Amino acid sequence: MSAKFIPVVDVRHLHTSQVKAPIGAPSGSLLDSLNRPLRDLRISVTDRCNFRCVYCMPKQVFDKNYAFLPHQSLLTFEEITRIAKTFIAHGVEKIRLTGGEPLLRKNIETLIEMLANLKTTSGRDLDLTLTTNGSLLAKKAQSLKDAGLKRITVSLDSLDDAIFKRMNDVDFAVADVLEGIETAHRVGLSPIKVNMVVKGGMNDSEIVPMARRFHGTPFILRFIEYMDVGASNGWKMDEVIPSSEVIRRIHADIPLVEIAPNYAGETASRWRYADGAGEIGVISSVTQAFCRDCTRARLSTEGKLYTCLFSGSGHDLRTLVRGGRSDEEISSTVAQIWRARSDRYSELRTVQTLELKQRTKVEMSYIGG
Ligand code: SAM
Ligand code: SF4
Ligand code: SF4
Repeated sequence: MSAKFIPVVDVRHLHTSQVKAPIGAPSGSLLDSLNRPLRDLRISVTDRCNFRCVYCMPKQVFDKNYAFLPHQSLLTFEEITRIAKTFIAHGVEKIRLTGGEPLLRKNIETLIEMLANLKTTSGRDLDLTLTTNGSLLAKKAQSLKDAGLKRITVSLDSLDDAIFKRMNDVDFAVADVLEGIETAHRVGLSPIKVNMVVKGGMNDSEIVPMARRFHGTPFILRFIEYMDVGASNGWKMDEVIPSSEVIRRIHADIPLVEIAPNYAGETASRWRYADGAGEIGVISSVTQAFCRDCTRARLSTEGKLYTCLFSGSGHDLRTLVRGGRSDEEISSTVAQIWRARSDRYSELRTVQTLELKQRTKVEMSYIGG
């Protein structure tokens, strides 16, 4: 039987009554135009944050006059869960709650409970995780675990208070994040990953101290290349420390051996310490783009679906959800959007065309990191 031709439809321009009837029941194996399946969904539960990280929400832009989303714009927990079920039916196996700072969303535990009950198409538990700046983690770790969260990722850019405070720009101390990490470990939110964004000239002196601190612990430290997300962080290529340099510096101090990915499409390349005392990861979104394996969709706080972190605009699912559309119609819309997907921004960035430089991009705090 010949493959069915699926027209490329941009639902943003369609009135909800024009959205096509279902193409068919979700099969759990939806492929985009570059043959990439839909496996991960990142859900931004708030666009607000109590930090002002210089690479994400710089104070000059995100000041007291900044217009964050009003409460009624946010998807409710019921709406998020309904949309999540659609994605799971199309093959999503992993959901990450993010933001903004997800632990600022009131009663986030209720949403976690609702999502934790969902099963993948193969009947397995969902891989349900959350990325946090750690500021509220010591207080919330137990309730997150009780609600059904499986594991957690905590961001920490330095062990040096002066550097960390310069990066979070709200005077937040390292010790409080470390306490959050320890508490999360104690309650069993494992394996815990620790994300460090490396910004050249700002915290690259912390690469080796961070590696030493987490060497011999169960925590998996991951170094993220500083990315040109959004339009406010003033990104410059010469502030990116390539992952190869991160590995070189750590390897000179504590020998490393490269290891295989856990699964196809894993964002981080994995390395273990040669002495067997743990592993690290490097996320090289700038110097070694991994678009060809990108299976991630993002749902913004107000219910827009983004098929790439660097998209300029999203597809409005909230209007469908609030406009009385059936689950089948929402499912069909998601399928059409994913099938039409051709994003590969990071691969194209390597070529650095003028068009890309001029492209409008949404902020990471809105779309979810
Ligand atoms: N507030 C939470 C946190 O910081 O963990 C979750 C949201 S944050 C946008 C998700 C992740 O994106 C964090 O690990 C953060 O460090 C990372 N991030 C933010 N801006 C970035 C940038 N310009 N380049 C690379 N990573 C970035
Ligand atoms: Fe907030 Fe996370 Fe962005 Fe920092 S990286 S400003 S903690 S959303
Ligand atoms: Fe995926 Fe877009 Fe990032 Fe490429 S640039 S890995 S397509 S989110």
